[in-house]
Amino acid sequence: MTTQLQAARTGTITEQIEFIVEAENVDAELVRDEVAAGRVIIPANKLHLKTNLKPCGIGRILRTKVNANIGTSSERCSLEAEIEKMKTALHVGADTIMDLSTSGDLDHIRCELLARCPVPFGTVPIYEAMKDRDVEDINNKIIREVIEKQAKQGVDFFTIHAGVLKEHLPLLENRVAGIVSRGGALLAKWMLYHNKQNPLYEMFDDLCDILAEYDICFSLGDGLRPGAIADATDEAQMAELRTLGELTQRAQEKGCQVMVEGPGHVPFDQIQYNMEIQQQICRGAPFYVLGPLVTDIAPGYDHITSAIGGTAAAFYGASFLCYVTPREHLGLPNVDDVRAGVIAAKIAAHAADVARGLKDASEQDKKLSIARTNLDWKTHLATSLDPQTAETMHNEACKEMGIKRISSADYCSMCGRQWCSLRINKEIRKAIKQKNTTKV
Ligand code: SF4
Repeated sequence: MTTQLQAARTGTITEQIEFIVEAENVDAELVRDEVAAGRVIIPANKLHLKTNLKPCGIGRILRTKVNANIGTSSERCSLEAEIEKMKTALHVGADTIMDLSTSGDLDHIRCELLARCPVPFGTVPIYEAMKDRDVEDINNKIIREVIEKQAKQGVDFFTIHAGVLKEHLPLLENRVAGIVSRGGALLAKWMLYHNKQNPLYEMFDDLCDILAEYDICFSLGDGLRPGAIADATDEAQMAELRTLGELTQRAQEKGCQVMVEGPGHVPFDQIQYNMEIQQQICRGAPFYVLGPLVTDIAPGYDHITSAIGGTAAAFYGASFLCYVTPREHLGLPNVDDVRAGVIAAKIAAHAADVARGLKDASEQDKKLSIARTNLDWKTHLATSLDPQTAETMHNEACKEMGIKRISSADYCSMCGRQWCSLRINKEIRKAIKQKNTTKV
């Protein structure tokens, strides 16, 4: 039984690497070498691979990936609603799904979602360990049992908040927003109550053995990520990051694949530093960022604040963006929020891939631009990132202008026929071609 990391270290190009090579048009040896170096991960539980999983790689040589969080809360708990959200997220291009459910029959919800999930599926096992218990009552045995059970169910990556240490807690004293991570806050409470070290840190080697057995990736959680612009890049965040660097190395030495989670709320000018320092401390392990949100003042629009930060993060070092929905900080997202969140994160990821010159990244842009210039609405709309929305808007405009056949429109209601520069351009080009400029 080997992990992708162990197989790559022996020089093997696994079936999963071959799948990624085909999907992303990259060199097989390069992917294998990056997996071996811990700079590309392939979250693929061996059991999920046996059912419906299509592997996906995460790392700087590959396209920037996007995760969508779904899951129940105590205030809204419906499996059907979560299935619908997952379907929507996948439909608009989410590369991975995380189930963050904290209410209802968690096993049933997880297994039903997993059975329908063809992409890597992640969870935060500490949520289940703490469900229906006072936080003080959890212990290593409970945590281990939950992790082993979820491993057997086929989960591909686990957020493990092992980097929040007892000695980090005094560093939070002057923070504006304290601890905003649910897992981080609950573990901090446990440590203060028992006056002991974080149990996930203490049992880390055992966890590595379980994760290696199924080839589940660590997503080393950032329990102390800044939850306010004022807290960004503070000593608590940096102290945890240094611990995550140590844990990354320990897990990789035991054959586990690792990615590292990151901020959070970060002003635009601090994003580059945050990405570079993580890559340095964690020796190139993929960085999975939750945003970052570049301002705190836009509740209702945090898919936009995070997309601005997400592009910068992916440009400077992140490989994986966790979406943020417009309902962030305000309530549990509905299907429309999930849709808007995934699309915003996809735009952020793609914009970064174009800017960093990733092979083939700008091909779709060029195809769309040519179609747009030619007033070829069919290709224009079909090539767009969200054809459904683009088509709806264009149809509305055509209706307004009294145009029945969409494909025949040689202008739109934005500028109107007389002022349509694209239509005029077409005439100019035609005249130049015919060497007859008087007809323009
Ligand atoms: S009318 Fe304006 S916005 Fe519409 S297609 Fe022509 S140039 Fe583009």
